[in-house]
Amino acid sequence: MKPDTLIAHAGRHPEDHHGAVNPPVYRVSTVLHPTVADLEESGRLRFDKMTYGRYGTPTTFALEEAVAALEGGHRAIATSSGLAAIAGALCAFVKAGDHILVTDSAYFPTRRFCDTVLKGFGVETTYYDPLIGSGIASLMRPDTRVVLLESPGSLTFEVQDVPAIAAAAHAGGAVAIMDNTWGTPLFFKPFEKGIDVSLQAATKYIVGHSDAMLGIVTTTKEHFLRVKTSISTFGYSAGSEEVYLALRGLRTLAVRLRQHQETGILLANWLRTRAEVARVMHPALHDDPGHPLWFRDFDGACGLFGVCLKPCPKGAVDAFLNSLTLFGMGYSWGGFESLIVPTSDAIERTASPWAPPGPTLRIHAGLETPDDLIADLERGFAALRGVLSG
Ligand SMILES: *Cc1c(COP(=O)(O)O)cnc(C)c1O
Repeated sequence: MKPDTLIAHAGRHPEDHHGAVNPPVYRVSTVLHPTVADLEESGRLRFDKMTYGRYGTPTTFALEEAVAALEGGHRAIATSSGLAAIAGALCAFVKAGDHILVTDSAYFPTRRFCDTVLKGFGVETTYYDPLIGSGIASLMRPDTRVVLLESPGSLTFEVQDVPAIAAAAHAGGAVAIMDNTWGTPLFFKPFEKGIDVSLQAATKYIVGHSDAMLGIVTTTKEHFLRVKTSISTFGYSAGSEEVYLALRGLRTLAVRLRQHQETGILLANWLRTRAEVARVMHPALHDDPGHPLWFRDFDGACGLFGVCLKPCPKGAVDAFLNSLTLFGMGYSWGGFESLIVPTSDAIERTASPWAPPGPTLRIHAGLETPDDLIADLERGFAALRGVLSG
């Protein structure tokens, strides 16, 4: 099945739900068992059918089945948030005394988890240059258990050589875990590129309407039980309503993403012609340093990208942002609405240089009419110039 067809059909079992197209929300903690034998059996089978609320309901299983099919993995595991997916996946593979390699461009809360929780538990993190490619082999140690990738990088949008990094991880006996939130199951196929465990914040494009928190981890057959056991042992279970909303969002992911992609590229191209802009960080643009790898490995670009302004004072950037009426200022992304946030103070690097010539922003291209979004940005630039000339 081609991706759009799969998105419409994967994980659907109407015969189990009186013919309803969508599985209902099951509100469950307790599941009753008719006999002692059935009760005992459920203890053994707890990841294959509904045995207790924390392990998932038929709605959860439908979402997991659909995402695993789209990503090309063995099975998926829904979690309470994207960050829970990261924490649960990392903890499946490490113990005190182990070492992990994490891209310097990782989502900031991933870094914080490594630098606080994992450090406290005796797991050492080394950050690596996202552009290191096969050179990561030189950072592998006998105790390296995990190489964590995120491509493109959070806020900075460098594209990683995923197959080369995954191959080096395997050669050194480590697993390759990737945060695939930007690529989504449609635009990046992690398991074809050597990834063992792919995770994403379903909060973003899968839910797609800014109204639920959810994570999803997909693994190869080899690693499924280990990751599922880690996640359910922490108790990072996904809520009933959240998995329903994610499954509902997933069914329109392909059409929404195509529009996010088109508007994102259009805005990026418009922005780079502006005198106020030094650089646009969008791997689908031909002159972006990440373009060749993006073109080789991805099937599309979502609506999230970065902008670097020419040097200007904070007051001018603030005036730009405050004058926008269509772009909301807020964290998260992947919903139907356009968003913008300043990122200069949010980017932390310890292993590789990051020295943009001016203030940086992150834009999420929503589903509004692009001309209206451009007019809004034009208003912003007028306010910015007003501060510079005033
Ligand atoms: C938002 C985000 C997460 C975390 O997801 P939550 O659902 O907010 O916990 C993880 N990775 C990336 C790249 C994200 O943008």
